[in-house]
Order: sequence, then structure tokens, then C-alpha cells
Amino acid sequence: MTQVTYILNGKTQRKQYVDDKRAHTHIYKWLVKHAKTVSKQAILYSINNGPTTFSRAEDVPYSEQNNTPNFYLTPQWKELRVQALERDKSRCKLCGASASESKLEVNHIKERAKYPELELELSNLETLCEHCHQAKTSRFNRKT
Ligand SMILES: [Zn+2]
Repeated sequence: MTQVTYILNGKTQRKQYVDDKRAHTHIYKWLVKHAKTVSKQAILYSINNGPTTFSRAEDVPYSEQNNTPNFYLTPQWKELRVQALERDKSRCKLCGASASESKLEVNHIKERAKYPELELELSNLETLCEHCHQAKTSRFNRKT
């Protein structure tokens, strides 16, 4: 059982959910609904992880598309992504473009779908610019 305390403009409301995943979904929707309210907070009390406070929808590990926590929103990924960018000196590994020349993205060398165990391995990550990333991804898709 997961408990969530919602605080909106000083008003408190408590709700219970069957699990964290369900709670994340509701917190996400609640934060989106009250996006314009500055004073808002949802505190999740989980048996496994202790209390977590959310005040922005993008911090909630939830994605609207598939209803499972979005990997690219997890703090673990965000942290590792920064490390990969620093290691690659914020330049595309293929064409050398910097962040001011092109949008930089961090790519999984071995795809997450086939190698989920490598999704948080720094050695499996490379910095690519938007164009090289797209070119590489479409090549992959054509092959398979
Ligand atoms: Zn590039």
C-alpha cells in the first residue's frame, strides 16, 4: 500500500494506492492538472523507499505513452547522461559537433531493447548530435 499526501495552497489531502506505480500515475496527473499553481507538493510514502516529494510533473517516473515509468526520466539516467556528456567533452563522437552547433543526445551503443542490463553502463553510452543519432538509429531499424 502506498500513501500520498497532496498539498495544494496549504490544503492537505491524503490518498492511498495499491502500489507505487499507481501512485506515480495519479501524482503525475495531479501535477499536470495544477501546473499553474505554484504552491503544490505531493509526498509519496512508500514501504520500500520512504518518503519522496514531487512538485513538478517531469520529476515523476511516469510516462503517458506506455504507463510504465519512463527510463529517461529516472534520476539514475539523468545523472549518467551528464557523466557521458562530460566524458565526451560535450561533443558528438561521430562528427565532433558541440552543443552550440547541434542538439546533443546520449545514445546507447547496444540498444536498451536487446541489452537492458547495459542501460546504466557508462561504457555503453556515447554522445551524438541530433543528426548523427537519427542517422544511426534509422540504419539500425532498417537492418532489423
Ligand atoms: Zn554528429
